[in-house]
Amino acid sequence: MNIADLYRERRPVLSFEVFPPKPDTPLESLYATIENLRELNPSFISVTYGAGGAQKGRTVEIASRIRHDFGLESMAHLTCVGHSRSEIRRILEDLQARRIDNILALRGDPPQGQPDFDFSGGDFTRASELIHFIRQSHSFCIGAACYPEGHRACPRIAQDWRNLKTKVDAGVDFLITQLFFDNRIFYHFLESARGLGIACPIIPGIMPIFNARQIKRIVSLCGASMPADLLIMMDEYEDRPEDLRRAGIDYAVRQIRDLLDNGVEGIHLEPMNKPDLAREILAGVGWPIRPARPPGPAPEAAGRSPSD
Ligand SMILES: Cc1cc2nc3c(=O)[nH]c(=O)nc-3n(C[C@H](O)[C@H](O)[C@H](O)COP(=O)(O)OP(=O)(O)OC[C@H]3O[C@@H](n4cnc5c(N)ncnc54)[C@H](O)[C@@H]3O)c2cc1C
Repeated sequence: MNIADLYRERRPVLSFEVFPPKPDTPLESLYATIENLRELNPSFISVTYGAGGAQKGRTVEIASRIRHDFGLESMAHLTCVGHSRSEIRRILEDLQARRIDNILALRGDPPQGQPDFDFSGGDFTRASELIHFIRQSHSFCIGAACYPEGHRACPRIAQDWRNLKTKVDAGVDFLITQLFFDNRIFYHFLESARGLGIACPIIPGIMPIFNARQIKRIVSLCGASMPADLLIMMDEYEDRPEDLRRAGIDYAVRQIRDLLDNGVEGIHLEPMNKPDLAREILAGVGWPIRPARPPGPAPEAAGRSPSD
């Protein structure tokens, strides 16, 4: 099913993002995670496309398992940096053959350790070119990324949002934001995007804080800002990881409640492959979820028949 239809039919739409495990880790660990996430009734789960290259092949396989073994709608992230047209064509054919209907079409980041990487050397320079390429020959539902604080490589925020309009016009069905921690930034971006004529659903991407070191690393990579109260919170709980996790969950609950009160079309939660985190946040928000599975090994995902 096209995710764009979900946003039309059942708002607010809950979705999760998972990432493939490291190459030496069996996929079964991720399937146990997905089984746990499935119990939280998401409308779809998206699978990231490894920035480092090694985990790229697993995205399509995982998205396919989510769709066919777990009975959930799935979306495969796809970055075009470093891919030739023929490689992208092959990936699209694979996705189509596996009946995956939804793609989050991205440019991708420069390869690790190459901050001055020249994107113009490859077949695709920007996400909008990938979107145009997909639209020419396929009927996928296409999502794309957007940046409430502007993309970090664009010198002017307003310019980044004008570039976003060009990208949407290339054939985007919906947008998912980069993580942010201050909802006022999102509301300002939303108003500006609507003012530019961007009419498609714009879904906030929410990443809970659960580990100070990890969140600082992520924020330093993507350029999202941290409000003062969050920095104070991280300092306060620096040596008490369990208290920080609790405070991070409370923060995410308050953030999501406020977004829902303000009529967002969906919530894309990035629980870092930690279903317990997602469960506690949704319980705090009051989102209808099934009771937690009793303690014990996760049921074998393979061969399960989807129950809903
Ligand atoms: C929700 C979400 C999911 C993500 N998932 C992944 C993932 O799975 N794997 C991964 O590797 N990365 C992922 N990323 C990160 C993403 O790949 C990076 O942020 C990347 O640097 C930009 O990708 P993009 O698709 O937004 O690029 P683009 O939309 O191409 O934008 C990139 C830059 O080019 C500029 N630009 C665009 N058009 C023009 C133009 N016409 N003229 C001049 N400048 C222009 C933009 O302003 C921006 O600065 C994700 C990001 C988000 C927000």
